Amino acid sequence: MKLTKVGFEETQTAYTSGSQTARAWTEQWVHNQVYCPNCGSAKIDAFPNNNPVGDFYCANCKEEYELKSQKVAFRDKILDGAFRTKCERLAANNNPSLFLLNYDLRLLSVMNFFVVPKRFFVREIIEERKPLSPLARRAGWIGSKILLNQIPEAGKIFIVRAGLPQPKEAVLLKWKLTLFLRHQGPEARGWLIDVMKCVESIGKRDFQLEDVYAFENRLTKLYPDNRNVRPKIRQQLQFLRDRGFLDFVSRGYYRLKSEP
Ligand SMILES: [Zn+2]
Repeated sequence: MKLTKVGFEETQTAYTSGSQTARAWTEQWVHNQVYCPNCGSAKIDAFPNNNPVGDFYCANCKEEYELKSQKVAFRDKILDGAFRTKCERLAANNNPSLFLLNYDLRLLSVMNFFVVPKRFFVREIIEERKPLSPLARRAGWIGSKILLNQIPEAGKIFIVRAGLPQPKEAVLLKWKLTLFLRHQGPEARGWLIDVMKCVESIGKRDFQLEDVYAFENRLTKLYPDNRNVRPKIRQQLQFLRDRGFLDFVSRGYYRLKSEP
């Protein structure tokens, strides 16, 4: 199996200044080194520049990807494009999956590279920014932020972590583990993702129903109209079991399929 190389190609554009060069490096690296996490195809292709849909696509399975790269590691929030466009694309379910890459310019190397599958993009993780001031060139324009900290770990699939390429099999497996979300409507997906986050917050592979009930208040705040949060939690756990995300060990006892 071809191993992902984390270094940028030496022969590329000499480093002149700023983000332009880094952008060229990272795009070429993705094109040369990254396989499609959806189907495992060895290569993904770049869209022509300024394509509104995304930056890369897989010719084999047609999955589309947008690339964001920066020097510092991605933390809680990521600046993104126009808020309205973002919401429209979410509603139409045609947003791309997101590649997030952070690099070290001194080492000319990729430090972290992970993908957030598009199924994890729900309305709640898009934050509306303040309109640009009347003095700005694009006065009144409203941007957005992606709330990375609201996405469960199951939705952050690392291909390179802390400079180390992760096993391809593990990457493809983690992608498949939540593929069922793709076929859920926005509301059903929201509930499943929120219950996933609660389960992850427990921090153990083996847990009990009572551990998830401990998040009843958090879920009630998120879904004030729902007066049956506990039954809803049980229903979500059952759904996650049926889709292979976790196992029922015995009554009230559960185990995640993969380490949290
Ligand atoms: Zn593919």
